[in-house]
Amino acid sequence: MSPDPTHTGPVRHRKNGFVVIACDTCGFVHVAPVPTAQELEHLYHHAYYTTEKPTYIERYREDQAWWDLVNDDRLDDLEKAHGATMGRLLDVGSGPGLLLERARGRGWDVVGIEPSSQAVAHSRSLGLTIVEDFLDAHTAPALTASGRFQAIHCSFVLEHLPDPAGMLSLLSDLLVPDGALLLAVPNDENPIQYAAVATQGLQPWWIAPPHHLNYFTPTSLQGLVERVGFEVVDIQTSFPIDQFLLMGDSYVGNDALGRQVHKRRMAFELAMKAAGQNDARRELQRAQARAGIGREVVIVARKPSAPAINLTSISDNNTATQ
Ligand SMILES: [Zn+2]
Repeated sequence: MSPDPTHTGPVRHRKNGFVVIACDTCGFVHVAPVPTAQELEHLYHHAYYTTEKPTYIERYREDQAWWDLVNDDRLDDLEKAHGATMGRLLDVGSGPGLLLERARGRGWDVVGIEPSSQAVAHSRSLGLTIVEDFLDAHTAPALTASGRFQAIHCSFVLEHLPDPAGMLSLLSDLLVPDGALLLAVPNDENPIQYAAVATQGLQPWWIAPPHHLNYFTPTSLQGLVERVGFEVVDIQTSFPIDQFLLMGDSYVGNDALGRQVHKRRMAFELAMKAAGQNDARRELQRAQARAGIGREVVIVARKPSAPAINLTSISDNNTATQ
């Protein structure tokens, strides 16, 4: 990979033979030079299918009550942003199908696209329609054969892609005007992570090229989403699980402890919901996003109702109709 003059900025990290920069052009932190699609095809496509854990689906099922809470929050947000009757909902990277199952129960006409055959098999056992593939310009037309979407959910996808702006443009094409988009990505380079590096003897564990190419914050993801032409309507971050690292639970590289702190987090969130305090918890998530802390960024955006028009296109229209 040769240096790429279109992506420049200060070097933040070097890992696994990759350089990670704070890119002045893109406004977010990413691997540079950006690997080509062909390089990733080789590196990532194959690894994807061989590194899946057998407990993958089991874990989801074990945590189902908590996933239902997460997915209900996200569907509430999408429905509020779209502001019209439900229609078609697409989940990009639909995993085991839990969000789609929940959305179907609320009256959405749902479809997913997902590359993991294990996850696809589980989704299909729930009676869901899933395209087994990665989403790109070649696979997109099959999804819109019966029309565009009122809502798209895209969770833990953008951090993996060499061209996240290109993906957002594609998602915009798949949405109807006023359609709603919910994006979730890891919130990396965050203040708690840096506090853990400064005080706990940890190296920046969240830097994981080539699996993760892009590292977003609430601000940098918002900038990207707006540059592509979406209107951002809500920004939240999820529970700052990394604060456990500052409280004595050093879970990095310790799966069992990681699972334990995750269970404590789930207990907190489910208790708030059970007590009728979910709105307060979600307000906290908005405040966290403003502070830049929280483990994941969740942005809800809307596709503008009409494409921007300029005077030339108006005069063209007038000519055409005369
Ligand atoms: Zn860049």
